[in-house]
Amino acid sequence: MSKENKKVTTMNCPKCGSNETFLNKKSGKLVCKHCKYEYEPVKYEDKVKDLKKLKGTEVSSGAGFIDKKSIELVTLNCPNCGAVSVTSNSEGYTKCHWCHSILTIDENGSSKAPDQILPFKTSKEDALKAMNSFIDGVSKKYNKSFRDNLVPDNVIGVYLPYMLADINDHFVMAGSGEEEYKKVGNNVEVKVYNIEREFDLTIDDIAVEASENISNDFKNRTNYVIRSVAPYDTNDSVKFNGNYLDGFAIEKRDMNIKDTYKDVNSRVTRVAKYAIRDSISQYKQSVRWTKEKITKHGTQWSTAYVPVWLYTYSVPKDKSGKVYYLAVNGRTGRVNGELPLLKESKLKTILICQVISLISALVLAAMISPIEIEVGTYNPVSYIITFIVLYILISIFSTAIGLANEGKESEKNNCYDLDNNYSVSNMIEKDECIRTYVKKVYDSSNNN
Ligand SMILES: [Zn+2]
Ligand SMILES: [Zn+2]
Repeated sequence: MSKENKKVTTMNCPKCGSNETFLNKKSGKLVCKHCKYEYEPVKYEDKVKDLKKLKGTEVSSGAGFIDKKSIELVTLNCPNCGAVSVTSNSEGYTKCHWCHSILTIDENGSSKAPDQILPFKTSKEDALKAMNSFIDGVSKKYNKSFRDNLVPDNVIGVYLPYMLADINDHFVMAGSGEEEYKKVGNNVEVKVYNIEREFDLTIDDIAVEASENISNDFKNRTNYVIRSVAPYDTNDSVKFNGNYLDGFAIEKRDMNIKDTYKDVNSRVTRVAKYAIRDSISQYKQSVRWTKEKITKHGTQWSTAYVPVWLYTYSVPKDKSGKVYYLAVNGRTGRVNGELPLLKESKLKTILICQVISLISALVLAAMISPIEIEVGTYNPVSYIITFIVLYILISIFSTAIGLANEGKESEKNNCYDLDNNYSVSNMIEKDECIRTYVKKVYDSSNNN
């Protein structure tokens, strides 16, 4: 256990000197409680702004290593009233118990406070409206108490942690592709190429959820929740200040940079393939990449809190303890969630799957071992055995798939990292024709 004295800052109104603020959820700006002066937020600035000049590894103070096992005691002197607070709260801020100033630990003081924050810009009322219209759009029957419990008190504003990586990488990608060269009568001549693309790529703010999955259902869902309402406008983030957190819940970051490597790298590769799509357009969709070599010039790490309005619900007496939720992006108002669908609906799914399995097993069995209709030799045994085996297999598969897809009303996520700002430079293209062949039927409607 260590005990340190940290430098802190408070926000005092330049007009009236008051230390109390609230967040204007329309503008995302802090407002003085007394004279209503609206603070101009301090924009967050990356240390390296020109990503092409990014070399080595830059780690901001907020992305430092977190040791989950150590408890750090921090001594904070309130600049407003002089009171001394000792706190184990090392999240980067605390409230002075005498004058109610929010004490924000200075930069470089705490690795547990993020560098930047996206303040709420959507009101609770608007979040509730979005949640209700999301439920209205669900066609299946769901547990009615899910909606009955959707009242303002149960909707909580939470800041969730993001790890942000700025990337400056060198790529060598190789593979093959086919170009439809010319039409010969009804056929088409196709040229097969070996393709190589070598280029530098910078990407701004690859965003990865930074709250670890532990074996607790709600925690497991945190990353899913944040992904379901992404993307966030991290370019508009402001410098972290504890005043933005007042009145909201926060989920602490418990992942370190190395825990996010896998996630970051897979997104970088996706952005890379997307970024060079124009340079391989002559091959339509036929390119198969077989080699990807990435050399890192530099990476810049920082952390952010992003806002979400969250409503959670578990069905009483449900032994699985499953947590259903509705989430609204606190910046864009985008809504997503998962509803507790009713048992009847599950039974119906199972019944439908059984009927489908029955019919397809009957037909398939007849195709595999046809019934001998010749009089006297009729022997249905092989047909019946084939039918039973097929029926069991198909019904297991279809029921599993049917139930797994229950309740998933909206799954349009996961593609948001292609919204990142990226830039490709120093492109070297090598295209070598290795053979030509004639494709039999040319179907002009198949051009995409
Ligand atoms: Zn004021
Ligand atoms: Zn004080």
